Amino acid sequence: MSPVSYPYEAPQSQSLFDRASVVTPGGVNSPVRAFRAVGGTPRFMVSGTGPYLTDADGREYVDLVCSWGPMILGHAHPAVLDAVQRAVTRGTSFGTPGQGEVELAEEIVARVAPVEQVRLVSSGTEATMSAIRLARGFTGRAKVVKFAGCYHGHVDALLAAAGSGVATFGLPDTPGVTGAQAGDTIVLPYNDLAAVEEAFRANPGEIACVITEASPGNMGVVPPLPGFNGGLARLCRENGALFVSDEVMTGFRVSKAGWYGLEAANEGWAPDLLTFGKVMGGGFPAAAFGGRADVMAHLAPAGPVYQAGTLSGNPIATAAGLAQLRGCTDEVYATVDRVAAEVSGLVSAALAKEGVAHRMQTAGNMFSVFFTEDAVTNYAEAKTQEAFRFTAFFHAMLAEGVYLPPSAFESWFVSSAHDERAIERIAAALPAAARAAAEATA
Ligand SMILES: *Cc1c(COP(=O)(O)O)cnc(C)c1O
Repeated sequence: MSPVSYPYEAPQSQSLFDRASVVTPGGVNSPVRAFRAVGGTPRFMVSGTGPYLTDADGREYVDLVCSWGPMILGHAHPAVLDAVQRAVTRGTSFGTPGQGEVELAEEIVARVAPVEQVRLVSSGTEATMSAIRLARGFTGRAKVVKFAGCYHGHVDALLAAAGSGVATFGLPDTPGVTGAQAGDTIVLPYNDLAAVEEAFRANPGEIACVITEASPGNMGVVPPLPGFNGGLARLCRENGALFVSDEVMTGFRVSKAGWYGLEAANEGWAPDLLTFGKVMGGGFPAAAFGGRADVMAHLAPAGPVYQAGTLSGNPIATAAGLAQLRGCTDEVYATVDRVAAEVSGLVSAALAKEGVAHRMQTAGNMFSVFFTEDAVTNYAEAKTQEAFRFTAFFHAMLAEGVYLPPSAFESWFVSSAHDERAIERIAAALPAAARAAAEATA
């Protein structure tokens, strides 16, 4: 099997994983947590503080996953914990409107100019699912354009497979997604505006929306080429479709106003709908979708498009999210940006020193390494990298107490809590990991 050796043991994690594998498919509650791509035993974490996670065996790791993005202030941030503790003593769910929902919605509307109204939900998946339902209800059209390699949660219509070429009609590549559910999804190559133009030509009056990650981080970090997102917005406008910018990952992470704040705000255009999650929940299940008031007015009970949730706007989740967003000051973003640049630079220098062909790709303070020399602009290119080098690199880092995403196709995340000590520990782990990557064989 894998030529990588695991020069360390994790008996407690192994024991928990063995138990988990009996009662839970694959032993995990979300596939990205499994170590299937890299081999070995997933680490079961018992606590987190600042930039560190501690596993069931008592080993501490510098965390470069940050719960896949949410923990932008680091783990167990005092302001977030305090807000949660105060909220929880008042009760955990009321099934009525509450003040926290209003405040969180106001904070989002204040930060992201095109969001005039927002609806709170409990996961990014719900946010994108509801946004495309709303787009379909608003336009009276059925078809949705998405891009290969972009992830929008496990919404049936958005799990459609990648197909190269123009106007590929997605066929289900996940059993359980029917042809009917995926048949209205058009999957196109990322960063290919001509393909989108052709899809609009081939499907006149039929496309409800184009949905894209604002800057993709779910095939590794593959930023939009200059003009791509703006071009999508223009094509949508010209063809009566809505532009849905999925900011579940980038929202409130890459800037106060997410990717919108880094790009569209400067270019003078705006998405029609945006989706959020991750950072805005402060580590709790809170997500949202929002945008143009005339579109949002189509949602029940104001309008006919139904959307609901027993725990939507949950008081603990909104308290945590609000505390975290209020903590995300200009200084915090400056710190996260600086840490990301520093860590990315250290990784690149270590790999270069060992002569490992690689490319750091960056979008704001999100970054990842591709083991290839060529620029990666879409999913097909992402897949050409030498992922086996990542496997060796990952395990060498893990052995030295640095926790990376267990996949060569995921963004890395840092927090404002990643201080000099944490960065030094990453720097100390890198030479051996770079050597392991250099020596790895397919
Ligand atoms: C994580 C993610 C989602 C899904 O969010 P969940 O809360 O996991 O359902 C959707 N879109 C993007 C861009 C994401 O990164």
